[in-house]
Parts: sequence; C-alpha cells; structure tokens
Amino acid sequence: MERQELATTAAAISAGDEPRVTERENLIGYYRVHRPGLPLVVINGHIDVVPVFDEGQWDREPYSGDRADGFVHGRGAVDTKGGIAAALWALDSLDQAGVELPFDVAVELVVGEETTGVGTRATLERLPNRLGTIVLEPTSGAVVTVASGLLFFTVEVTGRAAHTSVPWYGVDTGPKVFQIYQALTRLGDERAAALTDVRMPFPSAVPLAIGTVDIGGWRAAVPARGSLSGRIGIMPGENVEDVRAALTACVESVAAADPWLVDHPPVVCWDNEGLRSWETPESDQVVIALDRGRRRAGLDSRIEGMTAGCDAGILRDAGIPTAVFGPGDMRYAHSPNEKIAEADVLEATQVIAHALLAWSDFFEPEQS
Ligand SMILES: [Zn+2]
Repeated sequence: MERQELATTAAAISAGDEPRVTERENLIGYYRVHRPGLPLVVINGHIDVVPVFDEGQWDREPYSGDRADGFVHGRGAVDTKGGIAAALWALDSLDQAGVELPFDVAVELVVGEETTGVGTRATLERLPNRLGTIVLEPTSGAVVTVASGLLFFTVEVTGRAAHTSVPWYGVDTGPKVFQIYQALTRLGDERAAALTDVRMPFPSAVPLAIGTVDIGGWRAAVPARGSLSGRIGIMPGENVEDVRAALTACVESVAAADPWLVDHPPVVCWDNEGLRSWETPESDQVVIALDRGRRRAGLDSRIEGMTAGCDAGILRDAGIPTAVFGPGDMRYAHSPNEKIAEADVLEATQVIAHALLAWSDFFEPEQS
C-alpha cells in the first residue's frame, strides 16, 4: 500500500475551493504485490462522504455503522463503503484461492469525489496508464457505461423596489422569476422527450431541475432582485455550447414578451464548468469483464446509464476505459438513514471477483 499526499500533486494546486486539500491523502493498495511493467486494472472508490444534513431526520446515530435487519446503516454505507468492502473482499477471496492474475490490480481509495474530484485527478498522476478502471458508485449492481453530464446555471432578474404600501411604483421580480421557472421546466420536458437513450429509461436522461429560487430581501419592499439556480443535463455527444444556447434562448423568449425585461434583460450565468457526459464502448474490456462477471455470478446481463456525475467522467476525460459498478441503491445516498443491504455487498463481491477472472481471458495465449 502507498499513501499519496495530495500536497505533492498538481491536482491539489488546481483544486479551487477544495477544503484542506494539502492535509489529505489517497490510499493506493495493490493485489498481492505491485509488479511495475505489467498492465494495470484499477478499482476506484471514494472515502469522503457528504455531510449528515438534518440529523433530526435520522432514526439512528448517523455514523453508527450499525448492522441490523440485513443492512449496514450510516453515512457513507452505500456511497461508497459498501462498494469498497465488496472490492476488497473480492481480492481477498482471489488471494485465498491462490489466484495469480496476468495484470496488476490497484485499489485506489480517493478523497474529494463529492466536491471537486481532486483525489482521482491525483491518482491519475500516479497511475496514468491503465487497462481500465471500475468506479465503485452504487448502481444496484448494474454495469454503467454511459452518463449524462450537466451544467449549473443561475438566472438573475432585476426589477425596481418600492414601499409595499404603494407597490404600483415598483417592478416585482417574483412573477418574472416564476415565468422563467415555468419556461425552463417546459424546456426540460421537451429535452426529456427528445433526448432518449435505452440505457437511461428514466423520466429524463437529461434532468433539468431548479434547486433554489431567491426573490426579494425585505418584507416591506417590492422585490427588486430575483434569481433561480439549477442544473441542466447534457446528453453524451451533445455540444455543450448548444445546451447553453438553448437555455439562454428559453430565458430570452420570456424576456421578449415582457416590456420591462426587454429593457432590463435577465442575466444567465454558468456557475462552473459543470460535469461532462461520458461513455465507454460496450466492446471495451472493462465492460465485457464486468458483464461476464455478473453472468458468472449467476446474474443477468445489465448494462445501463446514469444521470449522476462521479469520478468516472474525470477518468474518461483522461482516456481511461471506465465503467461504474457497485452494490446498493443510489436513492439511499446523500439521504437520511443511508444504508446498504449486506446481501447486495456479497453479490457485488462475487461479481468483482468473477470480473477480474474474466478479464484474465483477454490474456490467454491464442489457441491454434
Ligand atoms: Zn455521493
């Protein structure tokens, strides 16, 4: 095993507002021994967690780690301690069976996935050459080969304040913000209907959702300021600039029908770079190995997509063949009473062990 101090990495320097970045470390472990020069398969799991948020909504102490009713409970159980446990168990079982693999396997336990992805960017500096990477996010056991991306946006509307005893002297931003809200919701519905992928059979493969609406600032004044912020999904292969243009045009169409907004146009801001969509071809070794792993563990083939961002996008940007696979249900992640079924962890253990054995098939000498 090796500890990778982020302070020594280029990733830390460009990590923006990542907290305490120079005090944190990744942990990289190898199956049996590291044999530099051999091809490398990497299993990536993140050890950071999101905060507890509303502790009052939890039925147990949030970090209890309690085992009860066939589940392990607590923050991080599904996102992603369960996946990490499955990977380590899988390697332990191969070791106990005396399996020698024709490639090296590294398990990288990274920090910062929930914030900037700095941990995985740093391990890419240490291990840039990989046959592929399995990212251990909860997929309910599906092999995820595609994910939509997203952009975060804010729309700011300016009105005119007035004393609320004479509100007719003001220009209220409230109704204008909600007209934009409704127009964006329609845009989201149109995109959901137009942009489909059989691997993402959800109500939308490219969710457009508004997370905050902020209007006014003083109870006795007509709101002179209003804003709304949210995310718009991006389809794999879709041009990011086209997505920005579609959202901007939607806001402009509302403004064009409002005399005040014609003279005081709303401002659309893009809050950061967002997350890019990614895709790994199903012909790639990492996908075939995981798919065979599922079938050798007695399960059906399940190749799917996801609408959430994770470190897989960073790995794909670096050209690494990547698939996401892990036990447990994403709906328990980032929520109160986070938990993972022990049976799901065991099943994932079998799939990962079989997947690594199946990956060895690519190294079998040619039969004449
Ligand atoms: Zn998460």
